Amino acid sequence: MLSTVVTAAYIVAALLFILSLAGLSKHESAKHGNWFGMAGMVIALVATIALVIDGVYSGPGDAADAGKWGLGLLVVVMAIGGAIGVRIANRVEMTGMPELIAMMHSFVGLAAVLVGYNSFLSAHGDSADAVAEHARLEQMDMVGIHQGEVFIGVFIGALTFTGSIVAYLKLSAKMKSAPLVLPARHWMNLAAILVSVGLGVWFVASPSLLPLGIMTVIALAFGWHLVASIGGGDMPVVISMLNSYSGWAAAAAGFMLANDLLIVTGALVGSSGAFLSYIMCQAMNRSFISVIAGGFGSDAPTSGGDEEQGEHRETNVAAVADMLANAGSVVIAPGYGMAVAQAQYPVADLTERLRAKGVDVRFAIHPVAGRLPGHMNVLLAEAKVPYDIVLEMDEINEDFPETDVVLVIGANDTVNPAASEDPSSPIAGMPVLEVWNASEVVVFKRSMATGYAGVQNPLFFRENTQMLFGDAKDRVGEILKEI
Ligand code: NDP
Repeated sequence: MLSTVVTAAYIVAALLFILSLAGLSKHESAKHGNWFGMAGMVIALVATIALVIDGVYSGPGDAADAGKWGLGLLVVVMAIGGAIGVRIANRVEMTGMPELIAMMHSFVGLAAVLVGYNSFLSAHGDSADAVAEHARLEQMDMVGIHQGEVFIGVFIGALTFTGSIVAYLKLSAKMKSAPLVLPARHWMNLAAILVSVGLGVWFVASPSLLPLGIMTVIALAFGWHLVASIGGGDMPVVISMLNSYSGWAAAAAGFMLANDLLIVTGALVGSSGAFLSYIMCQAMNRSFISVIAGGFGSDAPTSGGDEEQGEHRETNVAAVADMLANAGSVVIAPGYGMAVAQAQYPVADLTERLRAKGVDVRFAIHPVAGRLPGHMNVLLAEAKVPYDIVLEMDEINEDFPETDVVLVIGANDTVNPAASEDPSSPIAGMPVLEVWNASEVVVFKRSMATGYAGVQNPLFFRENTQMLFGDAKDRVGEILKEI
């Protein structure tokens, strides 16, 4: 009876997860999407715990006692994990979200590795339980399949674990975002894959910890190297790829634990992450295969230092306020610096003020602005900027020549003309917001420092560009007082 209820609950949870993904695909429905996801997760947790409790209380004497200890441990671990999760989620700044997510992906990878080893040991040992489990698998003719599941699950998990740690280090600037270019790097990657396939055959033919252990070490090094060899500009694709890998790692764990919901949820995360990576590759004009193969087929960039390329012009708050007061159309191009400064609230106030004066104000959102897909959309929604004036790059790029003033607020790589003009730049080929085609461009930033990709921006030295130095929130606040 209980197993039927749990199966029904799992189906409902899976449907809620699908509704959640559908909701998250649009700004207007994103909040509902989150609620669907949370409701699905609560149902999934309650159903799984009910299954555990039932197993414990219906077990034979000793097993039931051991199970009660296990259940107690589960409650304690969930309480500690939940408390840490709530604390971190409450404290994390919006700008810290990408690092947090990268870190969480690494936990999913590590969990898949641990589940894999546990699953292997519980069917291949001398204990009575392991012998019984092995006999059960043999009876179902599933021994080889089980070993395949374990091997693949551990491989994906280990790769996701170290890859996500490197992504975390790069995003939090604890490691240089420039690509690590080792000699013969592609041959090393290929060798890692081929040796792992060989170890997989060995493991399935004669299961032991030796091939599994060697493969785990190779997969850990492979994951580290794959992400380390990808440069700053391509990191957005890597983040969504790791998201996808973490989904496949969870699905693999679902197979090992024979948990249908984990398989469905993992597959949803895996396939939506892969699709997102594909969309991001298209948006950035990158080859999907090249990026996931650690930059395979792309030459190391030959230009793109941070040296200044001419004279820049500096402006001040009063001049910008005056320029805005006389403008008919204004486009705001926000970037990571707006998130750092938390300038979205004064930017929203400025937008409202200018619109009230009859100025046509719109936002231009680059697909990889900020540090997370959709980062700018979330910030602007948080500050209650109307959705209909927030436009994607493709929707607004052609309008810049008819725009009076562009305010670039904490954006850099996403408005860099070198992407289309300098084929040897690390960001060459990436479509960017062509803000330089507007009559006047004002860039809000604190210094002449480069953006995430570490390349200087020729926009800052153009004749129609003026720099307004300082913290974006302070500067926009001061302009508000002037208007
Ligand atoms: P960038 O990271 O290129 O530049 C941000 C700029 O903001 C910097 O030049 C910095 O200059 C300025 N800044 C920082 N703090 C402040 C502040 N308090 N006030 C004013 N300005 C500030 O931003 P973009 O959004 O243009 O580009 C995003 C980059 O991140 C791309 O290279 C993208 O590939 C990468 N990326 C994107 C991901 C995604 O999914 N969206 C994921 C991972 C990486 P200064 O220090 O002088 O103030």
